Amino acid sequence: ATPMSIMVGVGRGAREGVLIKDAQALETMEKVDTVIVDKTGTLTEGRPRVTEVVAAEGVEESQLLRLAAAAEQPSEHPLARAIVEGAKDRQLEVAVASEFISTTGGGVEATVSGQRVLVGKREFLASHDVELSAALKERSGSLQSEGRTVVFVATGDRPLGLLAISDPIKELTRGAIRQLHAMGLKLVMLTGDAEATAKAVAQELGIDEYSAGVSPEDKHDYVRKLREQGKVVAMAGDGINDAPALAAADVGIAMGTGSDVAIESAGVTLIGGDLRGVIKAAALSRATMQNIR
Ligand code: ADP
Ligand code: MG
Repeated sequence: ATPMSIMVGVGRGAREGVLIKDAQALETMEKVDTVIVDKTGTLTEGRPRVTEVVAAEGVEESQLLRLAAAAEQPSEHPLARAIVEGAKDRQLEVAVASEFISTTGGGVEATVSGQRVLVGKREFLASHDVELSAALKERSGSLQSEGRTVVFVATGDRPLGLLAISDPIKELTRGAIRQLHAMGLKLVMLTGDAEATAKAVAQELGIDEYSAGVSPEDKHDYVRKLREQGKVVAMAGDGINDAPALAAADVGIAMGTGSDVAIESAGVTLIGGDLRGVIKAAALSRATMQNIR
């Protein structure tokens, strides 16, 4: 490709909110056949809100939310921010936590008023020997089948209940998915969220394939595997947990609204932070490479 047409393409991209750091990405994008997207913050607004507080027997809802918010206060995860805001919306006083530990893609733990508090997904609590009641599991399943993210809360090994969190799908996502399909691209969603939640979202959006409960390494391996099969892969994501996969893709696309680590790992950054940017990038690449040929 001539440097001149690439420069023109990079310039046009910048005007349309598609920042191309790696000129190679502009050349490769037209060959992409598979677009992998992360769910939270990419397909969804990434501004989740607590919609349901379900306390175990003998536990106060406000106590459950207060402890969870205190443990999540130091975390920058969007779910953590939702929980802290949920507590503040209900005028609850949030204590200062100490000895905070965060497990990427799992949850957090911290000491709050002398108690060890855990907040996270089912497997995370299970790894800390917390056994959930049948009632909590059942309630969580039905909330997840509505597309909600469910996190569980415990003190020590005692389950206190769960919080259901809703992160609405970005309005622009549906149209963008239709257009990506019309361009002949296959769409795969990868998420650290639970199977039932992922399934509900994938079905609602008409995503071709999805994988749930995946760790950052799993996301990376998934990209590698597709590339080994000869697929040309673009990966769009916004989180620290997406960074390894962004770096492993033929074209890594970070949401400008996302974490700095994601942006550093990607060849392309979308200012608007929504999937329409992926369409623009693909169209721009096709136009640029046509000019060159
Ligand atoms: P995604 O791949 O959808 O961006 P993550 O990998 O960040 O999601 O997280 C996967 C799951 O781990 C979340 O759905 C949640 O259940 C749990 N989790 C991660 N971080 C936290 C946190 N700070 N508090 C509670 N749960 C968390
Ligand atoms: Mg994310």
